[in-house]
Amino acid sequence: MADRAFMYCPLCRNQGSPRVELNRDNVDMFCPMGHKAPHAQMLSLNPEMIKMEVRFKPGINDVKAEVWVNSEVLMRAKESLGERFHPTVASLIRSCMAGEPVLIDGQQAAELRELGVKNGAEMVATVKLNAELSAQNETLVAKLNEWEERMSKAMASVG
Ligand SMILES: [Zn+2]
Repeated sequence: MADRAFMYCPLCRNQGSPRVELNRDNVDMFCPMGHKAPHAQMLSLNPEMIKMEVRFKPGINDVKAEVWVNSEVLMRAKESLGERFHPTVASLIRSCMAGEPVLIDGQQAAELRELGVKNGAEMVATVKLNAELSAQNETLVAKLNEWEERMSKAMASVG
């Protein structure tokens, strides 16, 4: 069975038709103009990828909701999110229903990523580890204080 390869045929491109789609089966990639080659060979010709246009489609149980929001913010959000605007807002609303959500802005997300934390699960693990280390640290400090006290008592009794 043939599937879409989500690439344009590089051989057609070389002949001046850059928008002929490639299909693929388990072995070959081929186009309707008769070009055909094994996957690796076709890929070595640097075919242009077809960007997946994800057209937003509401689900059957979805309703359109009215939300009061700053007009400029709304405009900017629609601009920058494009097709992801509706699913993003919908998933935010859904998150609010699953307990109290923790929202992180882009700057904070970038800082977390730089520190090697890539998702919520890793955040939780990091905070847990921090609590564990803090508790260990507290125990060690208490022990150290205890020993210092003993030492000074011992020194005093010697002197
Ligand atoms: Zn072709």
